[in-house]
Amino acid sequence: MKEQTESKKVFFVTLGCQMNVYDSEVLKGILTQKGYSATSKPEEASLIIVNTCSVREHAEVRAIGRLNELSRYKLENPEVKLAVIGCMAQRLGEKFLKEVPALDLILGTEELFKLPDYLEEKGEKPIVALSFSEPREIGSLPLRKNKFSSFVAISKGCENFCSYCIVPYVRGPEKNRKVSEIIREVQCLTESGCKEVSLIGQNVNSYKDDGNDFADLLKEVSRTDIQRIRFMTSHPKDLSPKLIDAMSDLDKICKHLHLPLQSGSDKVLERMNRKYNALDYLRLVESVKDKVESLSLTTDLIVGFPGETDEDFQKTLEMVQRIEFDSAFMFKYSPREGTQAFLLVDDVANEVKLERLQTLIELQKAISQKKNKGMIGRTEEVLIDGKSKRDKASWKGKGRSNKTVIISKGTDDRNLLGEIVKVKITDADSFTLFGEIEGSVGSPDPTER
Ligand code: SAM
Ligand code: SF4
Repeated sequence: MKEQTESKKVFFVTLGCQMNVYDSEVLKGILTQKGYSATSKPEEASLIIVNTCSVREHAEVRAIGRLNELSRYKLENPEVKLAVIGCMAQRLGEKFLKEVPALDLILGTEELFKLPDYLEEKGEKPIVALSFSEPREIGSLPLRKNKFSSFVAISKGCENFCSYCIVPYVRGPEKNRKVSEIIREVQCLTESGCKEVSLIGQNVNSYKDDGNDFADLLKEVSRTDIQRIRFMTSHPKDLSPKLIDAMSDLDKICKHLHLPLQSGSDKVLERMNRKYNALDYLRLVESVKDKVESLSLTTDLIVGFPGETDEDFQKTLEMVQRIEFDSAFMFKYSPREGTQAFLLVDDVANEVKLERLQTLIELQKAISQKKNKGMIGRTEEVLIDGKSKRDKASWKGKGRSNKTVIISKGTDDRNLLGEIVKVKITDADSFTLFGEIEGSVGSPDPTER
């Protein structure tokens, strides 16, 4: 019996976006039902799984390195199964064996939940499964790493075909889950102590199910017992006035919008196939800021897209300066085989890309610092999700703005894990807010009485 428990340990590595984190959590839940338990030590695992990302070349290089490093556990014990799942498995398929010969399973983005079934198949050859089947419904509560805040996928795939992006090819066309299924998952999470859900999808605001759009879905989720709702990612072309109204009217929705701009140059935006121009984006931001009080706005930006001139890059800097995002994910363009942009000449020299990226990061860092310092003196409602990594005597959590807040414990020795507390912001840097708990937890703010 002991031997069997020991032999059913799974070691996970998850690379990439929130969707991968979600997929890994769901798969962990499925494997738990099959008798596996997760381990943080690869040497004691009988199953090793690497969930991969294909969005940039760098992520792929990292995945291959990690898989080859982990291959040694299989070479030491041939009973160990080594699996690669997700976007890169979907993209490379059998070709993955040239990079990592020790692989037993290569499962694409919609085959990965069937991993336990494939494990039961007998045979010498590695299993490669890449079909885009019907998405599997999650019948029971998947295991969640952070019990208090969980991702809930509302859709999979994408059909926007931004010219630089591999996602539509590795995740297939957009498939939306049913409102009723999403609500069931949210309720299930709430019953297990979850306080906050993040509704995720490549383009959440193009969500549709049986006459319901994303704003309707948000209203439905708001009616559950969940306390806070986040969502990402939104595409500017699908951000409707109805959604903006829902954001402003529904109290449970955190006032944070992640709205990728990608570039400030119309010429580049057109070649990226983003379907909006800089002016459209500016107008959209104005209308959201007008309606949604204390909006926290974040974005994604790419530098060095084919044909991007110094002038184009200046336009990106000008937009960033003008809009003042709270924070941004900033990337150097990475050519991805199979995409439309791969056919364009990658003519911006690597040093120029790096230089532009550095300039952009510095500008954004200064803006983030200014915006965060502007929050000093304000009160944030923070969901505490753990201890600060740097200072174990402090709690950490996220405010409604989606910013990380470090809260000094002082002499307060209560266990506040999973609690939503009011925190007075006392200091800030470019990445983090610092604060102190205001009044008693759970009791109304004395100033509101
Ligand atoms: N669906 C989301 C969206 O439209 O913003 C996110 C998808 S993608 C995984 C996240 C970000 O990666 C994109 O917004 C884009 O900025 C960046 N990205 C995608 N493909 C890229 C590429 N080939 N090179 C550099 N950055 C890329
Ligand atoms: Fe990629 Fe564009 Fe789809 Fe986002 S919206 S996943 S960037 S194709």
